[in-house]
Parts: sequence; C-alpha cells; structure tokens
Amino acid sequence: MGKVITLFKLLPKKHQIIVSILLLFVTASLFFPSEPAQASKNADEPSTHAETGERYQLPLAFRTPTAPSNDSGNPDTELGTRVPGAIVEPKIEEPLAPQAKDSDKLHQTVEHFEVEKGDTLAALFQRANLSSRDVYEITQLPLAKKNLLKIMPGEELVIAKDAEGQLTELSYRIDAVSTLFIRRDGEGYREDVQVKEVELRTQFAQASIKSNFWNAAVDAGLTASQIMELATLFGWDIDFALDLREGDTFALIYEQQFADGEFLKNGAILAAEFINQGDRYTAVRFSDGNYYSESGQSMRKAFLRSPVDFKYVSSNFNPKRLHPVTGQVKAHRGVDYVAAIGTPIKAAGRGRVIEAGYNQFNGNYVFIKHNETYTTKYLHLNKRKVKKGDTVKQGQVVGTLGKTGRVTGAHLHYEFIVNGVHRNPRTVDLPKAESIAAADKAKFTLISQDLMAKLQHNKQLQVAMTP
Ligand SMILES: [Zn+2]
Repeated sequence: MGKVITLFKLLPKKHQIIVSILLLFVTASLFFPSEPAQASKNADEPSTHAETGERYQLPLAFRTPTAPSNDSGNPDTELGTRVPGAIVEPKIEEPLAPQAKDSDKLHQTVEHFEVEKGDTLAALFQRANLSSRDVYEITQLPLAKKNLLKIMPGEELVIAKDAEGQLTELSYRIDAVSTLFIRRDGEGYREDVQVKEVELRTQFAQASIKSNFWNAAVDAGLTASQIMELATLFGWDIDFALDLREGDTFALIYEQQFADGEFLKNGAILAAEFINQGDRYTAVRFSDGNYYSESGQSMRKAFLRSPVDFKYVSSNFNPKRLHPVTGQVKAHRGVDYVAAIGTPIKAAGRGRVIEAGYNQFNGNYVFIKHNETYTTKYLHLNKRKVKKGDTVKQGQVVGTLGKTGRVTGAHLHYEFIVNGVHRNPRTVDLPKAESIAAADKAKFTLISQDLMAKLQHNKQLQVAMTP
C-alpha cells in the first residue's frame, strides 16, 4: 500500500486527479454492484461477494422488515428470491419472528439489586423505583411474602421492566436450586418457584495418616463436617483422640449434589473403611439412614471409645505422652485426655449418675453406672453438668474438662470399669452391637457388597496411578 501511495505522489497533478476519479469509480462499482454483476460474482466467487455484501448487512435486530424482492444485500434471502412460489414466504418469515422478540428485549431493562446491610424489602423496592402498588401486590403473594421478607445482605433481586418502566418480572434465588419468579400477568402478578433437578454423583476419597487424621482428611479433600462425620461413624470403634497412628488409612465413597452441572454440596457418606493399627473397620449406609458394618452390625454401640471429641485433644498422636501429673510414662488405672479447659466431656454410654461431687484428689468428678457390668468415671472436671441420680444419654455432656483436684495440668482422667475391674477403655471388648433387622438383611447385603466393591476398586485404581 505504501508503494502505491508513493507512486501516486510521483505523478503529475493532472494525472493524480484522473487516477483519483478512476479509483472512485472502481470503488463505487464495488460497493454498488448491479444485479447481474452480483449474480455472476455470486456464482464464480461466492466468498468475495459475501465479503462485499456483508458491509451492508445490518444486525438482525436492527433490520426493518422489507419485502423479499428488495432485500438484495442479504445473500440468504437473495437465494430465496430466486426460488419461485410459496417457499419464499416462510424463509423470510423465520428470521423476522424472533426479531420481534429481540426488539422487545431491547426495550426491557434488567437490573440487579443487592441486599445491603440493614436493608429492608421496602427500601430495596424503593431503590428499584417500584410503585407502591407493585410493592403492595407483590407482598400479598404467599411465596413472595414467605421468601422476600427474610432476604439477607448479599442476596440479590433481579428486576425487569418494560419501556414504560412497569415491572415485568422479579426473580430471587432462594437457594442453590430454587428461584422465585414473579411475573406480571395482566393487571396483577403471578408467582412460582422453579426448582432445578438435583443430580447425585458419587465421589471417592482416601488417605494415609502421616501427622494426624485431620490433616490427612483435609488433604483428601474432605470438609470439616465430613471429617467429623467420619470420626463419629467410627467413634464407637476407634478412639480418635488417642488411638490413631501413622500409617492408618481410610477410604470413603460419598455423595455430591449437582444442579445444571454446578456443584451444590456434599451429601451423605455411603461407605467407608478405616484401618487403625492393622484393624479394619467398615461402615455402610443403609436406606434407613443408619450405618452398619459391611457385614450388617450396627455402628452404634453401647459405648463410645472416647468421651472427648478428638478435635479438642492436643498431642493426640504421641503414644509415649508423659503423664500430666507425674511427668513420667506410667500405666495407671485410667486414660488421660489433654485438652483445653472447658472442652465438653460426653457420657460414653447411656446410664445413671451414681456420684457427682468434689474432693481434693478427683476434683470435680462424675461416675456413671451403665448397667450391672459397666461403670465409667470422669475426673478433674472444671464444671459438672449433671447431678447424682440423673439418667444420661450416650454422648450427653456430663461436664467440662478442667484441672481440679490433684493435677498439674488440665486433662480428663477417664476410667472404664468392668465388673469392678479397671480396664483400658480403648482396648476392652465392648458389648456386641445389634445386627441389621433380618427382614433387611438381603437388601443390605446387596448395597454393602456393591459399595465395598466400588471402594476397593477405587483404592486399587489410585494405587495403580501412584508412581
Ligand atoms: Zn490420669
């Protein structure tokens, strides 16, 4: 191009004018081709023609409807004009029908209004410039009343108005799956809630414990609530506060909820396996929502392995933990859990409080008799939460961890007594759990075998993938 301009400048003035006029003609003929020229070009070099034609082609939304014969700029409709008869009509009509809708949308304004802190629905409606009549009518609708009156900061109302500024549609996302729509219907409004279909997918996770259970579970992609759920599932069998070791492994299959391909939330754990110090424990969810071992024994047992949630227990990974009183590694008649003062202490099983008091050795203490065979004792409590004679449920908080009595540091001293003999609560054989009802056994076995096969398959897959 630069060369052409230089050449042009070298020409005498008179010639420059002639060239300019010639150029003008050439350009003009390109932009305003005659019908036959266009037709022949169309046949020989369709691509070149399309390029020229497109300069004149207006976006569909802005085009005014014209008679088919006049619409020479558009190659598509041009083709139509060459076909005689009635076929032409629908070919032209088709692009025009959505065009009317598009232009409607052009006149419609859609605005998003975020709920601000301290906002009221009335204030938000005012910001949105809704008429007081609209506000009144909308708040009379039962679903709107139920959902819009409790909107929270950060949530959003989407408001669409027509050219006259009249409200046409209001929508509010109630939660990840439900959206409330209020649409103008003649003089008034009608409402409905559209609910997306939730799709369940299964997810697999596994980990080997290196430093502690929590970190391993987080690394495996589990959330805090899933970690607690897993610990609760196996909490009747494994003392998560004191019994976990490096090399322990776990694997699980859990549900995830999706809508429109978008992740919503995690669902239930369907099956899990925990290998603790070489012992294998399994849990399978039955259709009643309860968990059983893979062979159908209830996970829920008469006693929790630990009266303290593992997440509170400090240094729960050191088997050679020093005794908080003597500073020596020492076997004594109970198990010590070191945690912060105030940590809730739970009854290991259902029973009756036979002692609740204070003395200089035990500090605040609670003794629970579960039946003729079993008694549990909780010492050095900061506060007692039960009285002598109370009946307690399994997992009920009986007190809080403290440093009362003859101790140097805060801890729970926990004793487990079987027929009057102190036993290690972490290793003692506990009463056998109930099995799944005989009527459900066959159904459960199918579920269990299927899930456990999937779990093992996924474990092997991951082993194979690890270099
Ligand atoms: Zn102790």
